[in-house]
Amino acid sequence: MIIARTIAQLQEAKRGFEGSIGFVPTMGAFHEGHLSLMREARRCSDKVVVSLFVNPTQFGAGEDLDAYPRDLEGDLAKSRAAGAHLAWVPETADLYPPGYQTRVEVTELSRPLCGVSRPVHFSAVATVVTKLFHVVEPDVAVFGEKDFQQLQVVRRLVQDLDFDIEILPGPTVREPDGLAMSSRNSYLSPEEREQAVCLVEGVRLAKRLYNEGERSCGRLRQEVSSLISGYPLARTEYVELVDSRSLARVETADDHTLLALAVRVGSTRLIDNTILADRDSP
Ligand code: AMP
Repeated sequence: MIIARTIAQLQEAKRGFEGSIGFVPTMGAFHEGHLSLMREARRCSDKVVVSLFVNPTQFGAGEDLDAYPRDLEGDLAKSRAAGAHLAWVPETADLYPPGYQTRVEVTELSRPLCGVSRPVHFSAVATVVTKLFHVVEPDVAVFGEKDFQQLQVVRRLVQDLDFDIEILPGPTVREPDGLAMSSRNSYLSPEEREQAVCLVEGVRLAKRLYNEGERSCGRLRQEVSSLISGYPLARTEYVELVDSRSLARVETADDHTLLALAVRVGSTRLIDNTILADRDSP
């Protein structure tokens, strides 16, 4: 596996590649979720490029930029084992040189859900993903469904900006008790870790009620919120039922309805989601 730091090194390494390129953008601190995306990229392209960049602009004031877990050596070993051919570890100054001032904004999809408490987040994601796409020029890029809103923002920007890139979704990889894997799970104390299961319990409850015939989003929201309020270390930021394509709120659930939730467990903000009608049970 080649390791590139600068854009010039990345482009030089790419010149030696033949065939299609599959790309997995990440912030590092790899777990099985990230590795599953790399394997998927491997399955559907000849060469796999993974980027590791903790993008400072997508963290709001008071968020966890400085504390964000970093393990470059471990990450390189894991991505090599997962079949990546090239790891790109850019420097902030290389992506945002002095005088940098351009921003990409996917307006509507960035506003609801996580966009309410993180108003600059998705614009920063859209901007960095656009830059990474321009440099890597992949044929395929894989994004996790765990960050469903991000996936939809990326799909939209690819369409709107005429990128010739296929966006593939990767299913959410979970711990044995169902907690969605996240680099941020490492912040949880043992007691918080136990209660973090409330997110997937909310997902399971909503799916069960939907399968039993419940279609009122008000009632689904209320049931999930009340389940989470039974966990003393958990504080709901939002429980929303939205159309999975537009992310607009819906009142009556159907097979396109997405349940999305953000919950603080202690001081750690966790998210999860599911399409209610999907058969796979977390
Ligand atoms: P991150 O490094 O957290 O920014 O995530 C990089 C990519 O991994 C994104 O496309 C995420 O959606 C994806 N990802 C994060 N956690 C998971 C998970 N548990 N299962 C599948 N994909 C994930």
